[in-house]
Amino acid sequence: MTSKRKILVTSALPYANGPIHLGHLVEYVQTDIWVRFQKMQGHDCTYVCADDAHGTPIMLRAEAEGIAPEALIERMHKEHLADFHAFGVKFDNYHSTHSPENEALVRDIYLKLRKGGHITQRTIKQAYDPVKSLFLPDRFIKGECPRCGAKDQYGDSCEACGATYSPTDLKNPVSVLSGAKPVEKESEHYFFKLGDFADDLRTWLFPDITQPRHVQSEAANKLDEWFAAGLQDWDISRDAPYFGFKIPDAKDKYFYVWLDAPVGYMASFKNYCERKGINFDDYWRKDSDIELYHFIGKDILYFHALFWPAMLEGAGYRKPTAIYAHGFLTVNGQKMSKSRGTFITARTYLDHLNPEYLRYYYATKLNSTMEDIDLNLDDFVARVNSDLIGKYINIASRAAGFLTNHFEGVLSEAHYKGEFINRACTLAAMDAANEITAAYAQREYGKVLRAVMKAADHINQYFDKHKPWELARNPAHSQKLHDVCSDCIHAFYVLTIYLSPILPSLSEGVAGLFNISRKLAWNDLSFSPLKMNNYEHLMTRIEPKRIEAMLEASKETATMKTATPTPSAGESSDAITIDDFARIDLRIARIVKAEDVEGAEKLLKLTLDIGEEKPRTVFAGIKSAYQPADLEGRLTVMVANLAPRKMKFGLSEGMVLAAGPGGKDLWILEPHAGAQPGMRVK
Ligand SMILES: [Zn+2]
Repeated sequence: MTSKRKILVTSALPYANGPIHLGHLVEYVQTDIWVRFQKMQGHDCTYVCADDAHGTPIMLRAEAEGIAPEALIERMHKEHLADFHAFGVKFDNYHSTHSPENEALVRDIYLKLRKGGHITQRTIKQAYDPVKSLFLPDRFIKGECPRCGAKDQYGDSCEACGATYSPTDLKNPVSVLSGAKPVEKESEHYFFKLGDFADDLRTWLFPDITQPRHVQSEAANKLDEWFAAGLQDWDISRDAPYFGFKIPDAKDKYFYVWLDAPVGYMASFKNYCERKGINFDDYWRKDSDIELYHFIGKDILYFHALFWPAMLEGAGYRKPTAIYAHGFLTVNGQKMSKSRGTFITARTYLDHLNPEYLRYYYATKLNSTMEDIDLNLDDFVARVNSDLIGKYINIASRAAGFLTNHFEGVLSEAHYKGEFINRACTLAAMDAANEITAAYAQREYGKVLRAVMKAADHINQYFDKHKPWELARNPAHSQKLHDVCSDCIHAFYVLTIYLSPILPSLSEGVAGLFNISRKLAWNDLSFSPLKMNNYEHLMTRIEPKRIEAMLEASKETATMKTATPTPSAGESSDAITIDDFARIDLRIARIVKAEDVEGAEKLLKLTLDIGEEKPRTVFAGIKSAYQPADLEGRLTVMVANLAPRKMKFGLSEGMVLAAGPGGKDLWILEPHAGAQPGMRVK
């Protein structure tokens, strides 16, 4: 075995505005298996991660829920951590980018980059929502595709024809937030001069043949294309209002979330070092030879293989040893879909199935490339049932009974003497060790499992050939029965060690059968178990009806949406609990007065009586559908505990609920006769 290595490993930071789903888990399972393997080898391997907690979508979601962003990210942190824990993803530290460690490191890196002359400022034009008083990210603008005319497309690309463009190219653009037509507004932005590092990055990414590679070859090809297109300055600032860290010496400017997110790796590790008394600088100083690996999805390669190493270089830190990118998850060959029920959250999965089934299945598909992996649900059931249960678990469930019933669980004497290694079936298991070790190290988990199942086939054939059920009928064959079953159980123990990184919980159960009360390590291969306890079922087959139930539950989760205008930026599954819903204070309101607002094309100013001492003022974007006179005296429903919002025209103290696509087709809610102003809607 090689000497003890020091290794720091990260997975990409999940965004704190939605739940963990099966797509996310590909990466966490991939990384966790690799980390567990390194730890089993006896290496000093540390795995850190954090919630990515800044940016416009989080700010807006918190606003829509009527809570502070800090409260939202705290809740998400707890939920994410609970999901990871349930799936056996074991971080040494799980922190947040909204942390003092991160703020200090971001500031330090920025100031060093500025001192080095790598920051520049210039004025740019950007889409701005005049109603929300907010600069709009591309995903918050919708309109008609400039190429094919498809309606309802985002500001960066068309889902119908695949065209990419800038939001100013959209026809009839509207803000997703307010429905207002965006205007162009100038603002001064801060840029990181990525081009300053072009030569350094090129040397690092495309080393000569004698040097180690830092990215996979497919990734290098992709990066080569980006180099050919030229490295552009990177816009690292956002205007207030924004949830993030303020840029030093700048007024109302914040660091773009993508600047502080990768620094979150360092911050989480720093937080860990401070608790554990580890020297942070040993890991991050420029000449550190400690290994550092980032596991990421292929969609964020640009950030990790260009921006991040350039930032580290510019700020005087070391660069990663390697960046390992993986592909996306498809379910039944297609993108995850809410309507098909294949947008499955970690929580929904856990309500129906054992998390180690999924770890196993992902491992059968995972390799060192950036290819997408498919969760085919029929294949999932078949592989778990026929291979994991039908081959591996089967060995123990067949052989253990003979050992415990006939020999009090004690393995045959041959094992004490080390003669076991001459036996065909244990040997078949032991022989796979080198191949499996190499495959794990290279992230070729599919190969690991093929080798394990090949050995399991040998062991089952050996068992069948010797027919223990016949040997057990004749006392003269007692020794043979003992040897055959001991050999199978020993081989099962060996396979369990191989499977431990993939199936940690099952591995603990097997260790318990042999009275081993710690985690199995790789050098446990050198020992034979001596005695086993009564065998109990370790894992059962998947019943297909469980899959059906999970898909149904996912469909239901996807249709339970709130009436609050949560922006649909990227993937977010918006399931809430009844407690979440109870936090929204909905009240019956009488529209006492409705007035036009001077200078606002879309707004009406409503004065609403909700049974409080003073009526509330709400600015509602319903002018296109209602005359003020038609509204006065009518009842409607308002969100009474939405944080008051300062608008150009005054303070808005809530929100009325309306349905419809907009324009003339907009209808506010009205309760049946009998409801009184101030009544709670629940
Ligand atoms: Zn199009």
